[in-house]
Amino acid sequence: MTKTFMPEQESWEQLRWAQLDMLQWSVRHAYQGSHFYRRRFDQVGVAPANIRTVDDLRSLPFTTAHDLQEDYPFPLLSVPHDQLVRIHSSSGTTGRRKILGYTQKDVDDWADMFARCYEMAGVGPGDRVQIMVGYGLWTAGVGFQAGCERAGAMAVPVGPGNLELQIQFLQDLQSNVICCTASMALLLAEELEKRDLVGKTNIQTVILGSEVCGDAMRARILELTGATDLYDIPGMTELYGPGTGLDCRYHTGIHYWADYYLLEILDPVTLEPVPEGEIGEMVVTTLRKEAAPLIRYRTRDLTRLIPGQCECGSILPRHDRLMGRSDDMFKYRAVNIYPGQIESILSKTEGVSCEYNVRLTMADGKHQMTVLAERVPGADSAADAAVAQNIADSIKKEIMVTAEVQVVDYGSLPRSERKSKRVYDERGT
Ligand code: ZN
Repeated sequence: MTKTFMPEQESWEQLRWAQLDMLQWSVRHAYQGSHFYRRRFDQVGVAPANIRTVDDLRSLPFTTAHDLQEDYPFPLLSVPHDQLVRIHSSSGTTGRRKILGYTQKDVDDWADMFARCYEMAGVGPGDRVQIMVGYGLWTAGVGFQAGCERAGAMAVPVGPGNLELQIQFLQDLQSNVICCTASMALLLAEELEKRDLVGKTNIQTVILGSEVCGDAMRARILELTGATDLYDIPGMTELYGPGTGLDCRYHTGIHYWADYYLLEILDPVTLEPVPEGEIGEMVVTTLRKEAAPLIRYRTRDLTRLIPGQCECGSILPRHDRLMGRSDDMFKYRAVNIYPGQIESILSKTEGVSCEYNVRLTMADGKHQMTVLAERVPGADSAADAAVAQNIADSIKKEIMVTAEVQVVDYGSLPRSERKSKRVYDERGT
């Protein structure tokens, strides 16, 4: 039998029992190992013994990114220092960088989780995986690589950027899987087009690191790289790194590894659960993590749970693609708007590509929202007014606000190899 990284449990009920066992372990471990968690739990009057069902999770206090800065450089540490074998770090866009410690078991669990991603994407022995994400303190490169090796595939660790070398290796080594951010995939795809290499590489599978990416952008990446499948890997440093879930071949949402962490979807303002299927903030609780366990950690990522079972038959539940950050959520004329909502409208509109900006300004004492969307390459600019009107109508209908829409030349909005900034708020205070 071939090695599998899928859960041991065969039904959701079995998985639920396993979750309870692991949740009880995790809460006890955090309480006994970390003065931070012990103080927090004591403050709200809950003890590990109070966790009798998975839903009792809701009696536990939240953890935030701010808490990670409090005990810098070893926040949430729940094991003795000599059990740490590695740290990773991510640059917070605001404030101090985050550092997270890992025990050997954490590193091994992470590689198993990541190998499950590759397995779900049909990647294993014989495949050549070109890794185009950052190495070093970042969790990306080493995560993609450890999972690849554990799954038995061959890693080609080029790292980010360096289009010249990427393209050379795609040709010389015939890499059939590429792993990168969506922006990097688009840059590479456009470079292949420029060099008349569309359809002339062996790329079959594209695995994208966590970044919001709409249908139009995905279609363009598939078209220009010649790949048949594109998968999304979510992930963040606090929760090991990338590799904690993947959309399966049916692409009906991201299966998340519910045997490694619990996921709650909460209203970011009231912190109460949203009805199943509605957008809210992802809050995670780890079930096996030793060095820096997360108890109800507020990720600020927005998504929704997808009800029902997937056609693939996996017992692992699904959440939707990430729809931006609850911090990126902006208020415009008393309406909460997520960038993902704009992206979703653009991806359904003929004539525009997936690159867009939202600009919020003040004019005559009133807030104005302008959406800049790039025309698809080769399209006639004579249609701009009609396309813009279409988008404005959809925004009015779906988000219930009025926005000015301008269609601009393809390639005129800023691109980057890292995550692209979409919303520019110039309204002042
Ligand atoms: Zn599935």
